[in-house]
Amino acid sequence: MDIDKLVRDNIKKMSSYSSARDEYKNGVEENLIYLDANESPFDNGINRYPDNKHNDLKTVVSKIKNIDKDQIVFGNGTDEILDLIIRVFCNPNNDKIITLPPTYGMYDVIAKTNSVENIEIPLKNDFSIDKNEILRLNSINTKVLFLCSPNNPTGNSFDYNDLNDLIKGFDGIVVVDEAYIDFSSKPSLINIINEYDNLIITQTMSKAYGMAGIRLGMGFSNKEIINYINKIKPPYNINILTENKALNELSKADQLNINISLILNLKKVLISCLKKLHFVEKIYKSDANFLLVKVDDADLRYGQLLEKGIIVRNRSNQYLCENCLRITIGTQYENKILIKTLNEL
Ligand SMILES: *Cc1c(COP(=O)(O)O)cnc(C)c1O
Repeated sequence: MDIDKLVRDNIKKMSSYSSARDEYKNGVEENLIYLDANESPFDNGINRYPDNKHNDLKTVVSKIKNIDKDQIVFGNGTDEILDLIIRVFCNPNNDKIITLPPTYGMYDVIAKTNSVENIEIPLKNDFSIDKNEILRLNSINTKVLFLCSPNNPTGNSFDYNDLNDLIKGFDGIVVVDEAYIDFSSKPSLINIINEYDNLIITQTMSKAYGMAGIRLGMGFSNKEIINYINKIKPPYNINILTENKALNELSKADQLNINISLILNLKKVLISCLKKLHFVEKIYKSDANFLLVKVDDADLRYGQLLEKGIIVRNRSNQYLCENCLRITIGTQYENKILIKTLNEL
């Protein structure tokens, strides 16, 4: 596939912002006197601009994810990367994206912000992908297809063969949003990233890694696509506090897996408790750190929980999610209070 043909002309033609630090050759790094960027010279740890190439962070993430450094892009949250992807490929008022509701709400918001139409192709009743319909609507203007797997808010992962068939059959870019992949027993598509020209995978530090507050999202693709995203990326989008905190947290190698298995165990316990409640009608199978739960009356149950100081997400107004609450797995204590409260309703 010729990726160049998918990229907007204005992006192809432009050159990216050249920051002060880009213009000297990186050689000896020590004892340099920096008088090039109009920063304050007084050292307080944050007086210098951050590294716009995020070199240290890329080194660490490249090892963790087993992918080349030039196949990684970082964003101020995944949301920034999703926005950059739309802006690289979609001409406003002309091109379109495809999303599969019920799904993550930001795809639609970002598309509309960029005057890009969002074609919605709903999931089937069992939350699987309507592959034929997607491939039927595939055109030169449908530039980006967003697949969220495991999907938010339904919690299921999409069938591996369906995902591969779509990446193969779709004529535009396919973004697979793997925000919840660390909780899933299914493999990440990052393992097959080099088999496709048109695949972008996004992951995040916000969920399993426990760093939603520092805003750090990751995009993985081939070098060519990453270069285009880098071309329009705000150079200093990852600040020094974020980079340092991430490096520090990522150095605690075992903690991630400990936390993930804790959450998965707590999820099992929560499922068995929820099953016993008379007003719970269905608990959907989840590969993520949340459960989609169908109750008798979502508005009522949501309100009752809120009154007791427990906030869940009411997804009742979403397609296929009538009377569904989305409940994040909390600590053992939080889950216990939740169950106690639900039992008393
Ligand atoms: C939480 C979430 C993200 C993460 O977004 P960040 O901007 O990285 O915090 C991305 N995609 C989905 C589907 C999510 O649920």
